[in-house]
Amino acid sequence: MARYRGSVCRLCRRENVKLFLKGDRCYSDKCAFDRRGYPPGQHGQRRRGKISDYGIQLREKQKAKRMYGLCEKQFHMFFERADRQKGITGINLLILLERRLDNVVYRLGFVNSRTQGRHFVRHNHFLVNGKKVNIPSYLVKVGDVISVREKSRNIQAIGDAVDAMVRRGIPQWLDLEKENLKGSIKAMPVREDITMPIQEQLIVELYSK
Ligand code: SF4
Repeated sequence: MARYRGSVCRLCRRENVKLFLKGDRCYSDKCAFDRRGYPPGQHGQRRRGKISDYGIQLREKQKAKRMYGLCEKQFHMFFERADRQKGITGINLLILLERRLDNVVYRLGFVNSRTQGRHFVRHNHFLVNGKKVNIPSYLVKVGDVISVREKSRNIQAIGDAVDAMVRRGIPQWLDLEKENLKGSIKAMPVREDITMPIQEQLIVELYSK
């Protein structure tokens, strides 16, 4: 599957928002977006003309897709699933994305970015309800318990990430037992829990054309 392998900081600059793709660096004064908050490339600092409605919708979709680290096909599959569910498609989409296991281990602070979350999930560092799950797109549900596998507990990156996340705060739909490196799903996330600046309605409009 085609994966973006370039500089992830360029993506933040392109989308004109911090996507938090690099862990602790995103909170430091080394953040490229804080230093150069204009689009990347030779003409990045040039004034742009008016963006069309389509352009605005496209950027919103790209932003959400890049935030969660998905490729177009995966993102579109999530959209179709959200569209089949009852309720508001855009909100369904965000909630589905938020329930992905690679996102949940990031939200619990076991890793410092969703990219690292996907990597660690694939390498069997986590258990869901005591069983190995190595599928990043696995959707958690209420009552699930996510824990760091015994053998992986002394990985320095996990300990460091938990400390950093506890400082930043765990979302209210999750519960973390820091000492046991274990977290549980207290409730399904709701729209208010997803604080990233995404206008999901624009994504729905784009895919509904
Ligand atoms: Fe984006 Fe993080 Fe890079 Fe800043 S450091 S530009 S937030 S990925």
